[in-house]
Amino acid sequence: MLHALEGARGSFDRKLSLRFALVIICTAFLAFVIVAPTYRDYTLARHNLFDMQRFRLMLDTATLLAAERGPANNAMSTGSSPDGEKARRLAEFRARSDAALAQLTNAADVPLGLYDDELPLELLQNVREQLAVARAEVDRVVARSGAGPSREEFQRAIDSMFEVSNRFRAIVAWKANHLVEQDSGLAALALVGPMLSDLRDYGGRIASQIMASIAVGERLPLDNVIEARRIEGRLLELWQVSNNHAGLFNNPALQTSRVEIQRRFFGEGLGLVDSLIREGRRDAPYSLTSTELTERFVPTMRPIEAYRRAFLDAAVDHYARARDKALAILATVALFATCALGILARLMVSIRKNIFQPLIRVHDEVIRLAEDRPAQPMSLTGKAGEIRSLFRAIEVLQDKLQERASITASITSELQAQADTDGLTALLNRRALDRYARRVADAEPAVDAACLILLDIDHFKSVNDTYGHPTGDRVLIQTAELLRSHLRASDLVARFGGEEFAILVPGNDLPGTVAIARKIRLAIQTERFTTPDGTPVHVTASFGVARGQRGERTWPELVELADEALYQAKSDGRNRVRCAQTVAVADLGAPDEASVALVGVAQG
Ligand code: GH3
Ligand code: MG
Ligand code: MG
Repeated sequence: MLHALEGARGSFDRKLSLRFALVIICTAFLAFVIVAPTYRDYTLARHNLFDMQRFRLMLDTATLLAAERGPANNAMSTGSSPDGEKARRLAEFRARSDAALAQLTNAADVPLGLYDDELPLELLQNVREQLAVARAEVDRVVARSGAGPSREEFQRAIDSMFEVSNRFRAIVAWKANHLVEQDSGLAALALVGPMLSDLRDYGGRIASQIMASIAVGERLPLDNVIEARRIEGRLLELWQVSNNHAGLFNNPALQTSRVEIQRRFFGEGLGLVDSLIREGRRDAPYSLTSTELTERFVPTMRPIEAYRRAFLDAAVDHYARARDKALAILATVALFATCALGILARLMVSIRKNIFQPLIRVHDEVIRLAEDRPAQPMSLTGKAGEIRSLFRAIEVLQDKLQERASITASITSELQAQADTDGLTALLNRRALDRYARRVADAEPAVDAACLILLDIDHFKSVNDTYGHPTGDRVLIQTAELLRSHLRASDLVARFGGEEFAILVPGNDLPGTVAIARKIRLAIQTERFTTPDGTPVHVTASFGVARGQRGERTWPELVELADEALYQAKSDGRNRVRCAQTVAVADLGAPDEASVALVGVAQG
């Protein structure tokens, strides 16, 4: 039954641990479900920011390629600046374009955990090839600028440079597509960013339509006028559409820039182009040289460039803030989830340690008490509330059971002593002697022999009859005291029956035991017994002695043997000692006067 309980405890312990683990796993899963979307948001925000930065790099490159046309036109024009200065500026702009192009394929700065959409190399190669062609044409025109290049050559070089921007537009479009695919929220940006680059690009193009004619001082062909008007229409269209997204980043500085573009570029810049177109169609000489046109027109495009930069700065800033916000949300949610998990785990451990384990301890202790096993101290330290009082109650229970056990033990031993003691003489009774003799015989192989003296008071009935029962009792009590006084510590004396006593002497010294019997016989004979009123009573006793050897005879057989010797003593006239063995007279020493006859009985 108790073992079954222990088994139940073991399985309960396992079940509890299993359920605790389940709770932790479920909570961890819930925490994951909550944290995962915020992590995804954060990763997306990081990616958006990174993509935005890469996109910006491309738009910057587009602008640099467009900007290269200014110094190229200048270098091709014969004009005010010394040639060396023009060439230096052109080289500087080309170096900037080259560096920007090289950066587009540089993937080393991709942040950990992000990836960069790999730019199709053929797109870049297209741009590079066209750039090389355009530059070669520009260089050719520059080389011939002293000799006065033809308008067609000039125009071809300019168109070649336009083609570079056209090809680069494919790269920007490719990236814009990727942005929209990845996050539709980026669509407006993917639209407006390139638009602002185009605004700058087409701004340059419109001036380039008249640049060649001015440079060579020829009438402006109709084609160029048509193209210039088409570009103007495109510019106004771009401006209109980009205006629709003007509030994208809600930035007042951007609004101011737009006013500036309207005034400088659409007002002054396009106004200048317009008047030069009119001059070019009238056959009149141009009021500006190509270099002067460049010097006056290019500054009107600066607000576009400034606006483009500010817009992209705002975009990058916006996505950086979105990333920071996503990170803050992720950190907060993760922190709360971790705290919740931690608190739960701590709670589980605490419940296990402070409630469950103490209950197991109580359970074990109750079982120990039930099984009468020694109690173990119940440590109260660190225990709180109900568990503490439970432990205290178990302690009280332990104390009570211990007290009860010791009372029971003392009562039992007292009862045992009472059961073993003869009430009149306070000697052991026959039952106790039997038990003792049997225990020695069974459990103490070291004791391999013992001698037994049985003695019986002679004519005791007549003592009772003559002097009364109380005198008989006095005789019995006095005889018991006399026997005690004659015995050694190792001997055992018991009242064997009414007026019969037994003395068990360990060892096989039969002659010695016979000697003891003789001594006692003499002592009884000479002892002064009296009635309660002092009348002397003469008492003698008869003795039977026998020896028992381990393996030779049992205790009842030894008693029987001694009894037969006693019987022999009685029949031989009483007040004498008889031995149940054949013993040489010499061995037994000088016979006393009352036991001259030594008769071996029950020989063999
Ligand atoms: P024998 O010499 O053959 O032993 O004769 P006996 O009279 O001693 O033997 P018997 O067996 O005839 O008598 C024993 C008497 O002992 C009988 C009984 O009343 C008496 N007796 C037994 N127990 C007690 C006791 O506790 N107190 C008293 N006073 N007498 C007892
Ligand atoms: Mg008798
Ligand atoms: Mg008797």
